[in-house]
Amino acid sequence: QAKKQGRNNYQMYDVLLDRKAFERLQIENELRKALERNEFALHYQPIVNLCKNEIKGAEALIRWQNERVGHVSPDQFIPIAEETGLIIPIGEWVLKTSLLQLKDWHSNGMDGLTISVNLSIRQFYQPDLIPMIKETIELAGVEPRFLTIEITESMTMDVEKASVILHELKELGVNISIDDFGTGYSSLSYLKRFPIDHLKIDRCFVKDIADNKSDENIATTIILMAHNLGLSVIAEGVETEDQLGVLKQHRCNEAQGYHFSKPVPGEEFPGIKVPS
Ligand code: C2E
Ligand code: MG
Ligand code: MG
Ligand code: MG
Repeated sequence: QAKKQGRNNYQMYDVLLDRKAFERLQIENELRKALERNEFALHYQPIVNLCKNEIKGAEALIRWQNERVGHVSPDQFIPIAEETGLIIPIGEWVLKTSLLQLKDWHSNGMDGLTISVNLSIRQFYQPDLIPMIKETIELAGVEPRFLTIEITESMTMDVEKASVILHELKELGVNISIDDFGTGYSSLSYLKRFPIDHLKIDRCFVKDIADNKSDENIATTIILMAHNLGLSVIAEGVETEDQLGVLKQHRCNEAQGYHFSKPVPGEEFPGIKVPS
């Protein structure tokens, strides 16, 4: 009886594994056709300057709606796009679309607005990254200082290579943010060696900032350290007035989160009002 039970469990496990593998394969197959079928969209989330209480920029976040697999979140499909190399054309599409959107906003009264675009590791180490970004900026007709490239700590594990790429990016005139700061393995010392402009505190450190002293201390320490290195700090995932209060008290420069707005389609962005 026990043996039979065991075998059944084993079969159940197999079926689940097959199901997962099948889903993964289906996503991969659909992903290959997604660009030509025009299934991607960008949503934009405001980045708010906390001194002026006004929107200074937008982060572009990709969305994918597919007939067969439905809505798949970027946390799910970006890793598959990375593995398959599809991230290269998808990433180019993201950059081009968001810079054209920015151009449109600049032409319609939102002059100083900046756009932040996420880069994945495979894009970061792609040999023609720099000319690709340069050409796309020129094609869109915006100044490079309005573009911010977001990378994560894990991409800078190879300090020498990363340093070269980051300096080339700086030379183009774009800004650089370290995204999800605090969740990676890298040491803090590398920060000094890289030409970085902003540090984004990951939302896991913001979550309990108003209720938990040690979480507040972590956030405060990141802010102080960043300021000492001459970096501006952006808090991610700000959802409440209380969290915002703590961040302002510690001179956090900018914030992003549902408290201000969820990511929205481009046409809704100009209508966003910052709560006063
Ligand atoms: P990220 O760059 O750290 O983006 C922030 C994520 O937090 C977004 O999730 C955003 O919708 C979410 N978020 C913003 N405010 C709040 C809040 O107040 N509370 C909570 N709970 N969440 C909040 P999203 O859009 O699902 O994107 C997830 C990740 O996927 C991004 O993390 C980024 O790493 C990646 N990603 C998104 N778009 C792109 C893209 O175009 N290219 C690449 N390479 N990666 C992308
Ligand atoms: Mg980001
Ligand atoms: Mg982040
Ligand atoms: Mg993230």
